[in-house]
Amino acid sequence: MRKHPSARATISIKARHTLYTDVCQRRYIEACGLLLGHIDDLGNWHIEQVHPLPNIYNSPVYFEFAPEDVLAVELDRPGEIIGVYHSHPGGLRVASSTDRENMERVNKEQQIPWIWFILSGPFNGRVQQDDEQGTSSSLIAYHHYDTMGLQQISLEFEETQDEHA
Ligand SMILES: [Zn+2]
Repeated sequence: MRKHPSARATISIKARHTLYTDVCQRRYIEACGLLLGHIDDLGNWHIEQVHPLPNIYNSPVYFEFAPEDVLAVELDRPGEIIGVYHSHPGGLRVASSTDRENMERVNKEQQIPWIWFILSGPFNGRVQQDDEQGTSSSLIAYHHYDTMGLQQISLEFEETQDEHA
C-alpha cells in the first residue's frame, strides 16, 4: 500500500453521527475515540464506524486512551482501527504541538497508518446542525507522511446510508 499526496478520507453518515453525538455529550472535555473502517489500495481512509473511548484524563486540553481500551477494540475488530479522533472544546482549529508530536510518533516512527480527526468546538449543539447541512469547517483530518511530513487530508461525507465496502 503506497500513500500518495492526494489521499482523502470518506466518512459514513453513521460514523459522522456517532462522532458528533459523542463530542456534544462530552463537550467540556476532549472527547476521543477510534475510527474504524478500511484503507484502500491508494491509501485513502474509509471510515465506517466511530468508537468512543474514555479520556482517562477527563481534561479539556488533553486526551489519552487507556491502552487496554484500544487493545479490546483491536481484539474485537482486528485490523479495522484506521484512525483516531479527539475534540478541541476550546475551539483550537488546528493540531496542537502535542497532537503533532503524537502524529509523527505513531505515523512515522511506529509506522501505524492512522488518520487523525480533530473536531473543534465550542459544542453548543450548533456544530452538529452545521454539519448536517454539509459544513465541515470544524472537522479537520491529518496524516504524517514519511517524506512529506504532516499533511491535512481532505474529507468527503458520504450522503447515502450505503456503507463503503
Ligand atoms: Zn488536540
